[in-house]
Amino acid sequence: MSALQPQRTIDELKELRSLTGNADGAQRVAWTETWAAARDWMHEKLSQLPVEYEIDEAGNVWATLRGKSEKEMLIGGHLDSVPNGGWLDGCLNVLAGLEVLRRIASEGTPPVTVRLVDWADEEGARFGRSLLGSSAASATLNPDELRELTDRDGIKLVDALAQFGVNLDTARESHRQFKNAKAYLELHIEQGPVLESMNLPLGVVLGTFGVERHAIRYIGQAAHSGSTPMDHRRDAFAAAAKLGLEIRAIARRHGGVCTMGSVVTKPGIVTAVVGQCDVTLDQRHLDAGALAKMLQEAKDASQRFAAEEKVTQEWSLLWRIHPIPFHPDLIEMADEAVKETCGLSHRLPSGPLHDAAEVARAGVPTIMLFVQSLRGLSHAKEEDTKEEHIAISVEALDRLATKTMNWIANQ
Ligand SMILES: [Zn+2]
Repeated sequence: MSALQPQRTIDELKELRSLTGNADGAQRVAWTETWAAARDWMHEKLSQLPVEYEIDEAGNVWATLRGKSEKEMLIGGHLDSVPNGGWLDGCLNVLAGLEVLRRIASEGTPPVTVRLVDWADEEGARFGRSLLGSSAASATLNPDELRELTDRDGIKLVDALAQFGVNLDTARESHRQFKNAKAYLELHIEQGPVLESMNLPLGVVLGTFGVERHAIRYIGQAAHSGSTPMDHRRDAFAAAAKLGLEIRAIARRHGGVCTMGSVVTKPGIVTAVVGQCDVTLDQRHLDAGALAKMLQEAKDASQRFAAEEKVTQEWSLLWRIHPIPFHPDLIEMADEAVKETCGLSHRLPSGPLHDAAEVARAGVPTIMLFVQSLRGLSHAKEEDTKEEHIAISVEALDRLATKTMNWIANQ
């Protein structure tokens, strides 16, 4: 039997599901007892391998298999889940990585050091701050932005972290983990419909989308819906509605995505023309130039619509992040690994952010593989991937790991 046993990954995913899930789905919310149980279970698996086990200043778990060289290949994922989450998001990455680690360890000392990392609190489900452990390690985390965060029961993030031995103010010392890191690999379920619609099991991720997130306020004049003739109105909603449709054309023109996710009208009653309308706009693209163009076109259109409706408009930035492209050499190697495993490959951007984006921001050459998600569902108990595709994904990650170790060793 080959040293790599993808079926073991499927069995272990089911084992973890029965240990940390219930009828509503996975319950491995970070900084909870169930999450700790998942990590203990993982520790037990790792203790059967010749690896060093460590929990760092940010609560990230590292298993290190020493190689002939100090240069490191990292494989990562996250055991934490959203409440009522799926059985694959995050933990497939970790358990596939575990299987690859077993295969490499079975062949003796690898050419480079191999490390498996389970990032702490990728989902941010309890305190609303995602990518916590990986952003601490990449040193982009700002403790002051997190200090006052509380969960639904009023428990402070700092106190919950302290229970797990993590101090917010020293969490960024975990940055030392990247000292010898030469590559980072992450396998993840796609969480979207693209691969399924193309009938492909696997895809190579080009990078994560840049995001421009803005709030726009239109101000017109609230007026009686019966006594105000149509051409006398200054309807704030009309301008917002025109933009809500225009952003679809903007997104299509540039190959990105645009979403108006929230619309709030005032006075918000059935008998009044809208005097004030607040909307949000979320725009995403893998290319920084295209993202900037999408934003400019939305601003120009918004100004035009405001003039047409005789209302004012004001934009304010909510949040932005630049696109994070993955490493070109690793993209090529991942493409080869996927083709060798299942014949066909497809390259696609990632809409959601992942821990991999934080690692890439820290300057570590990074790549992700996506495996098909059924019906594109995730963060729900219906999240699923065909078992044959899970097996293929473990094999592709394993092939990619071998290529990457050689790539690092030859540097
Ligand atoms: Zn995830």
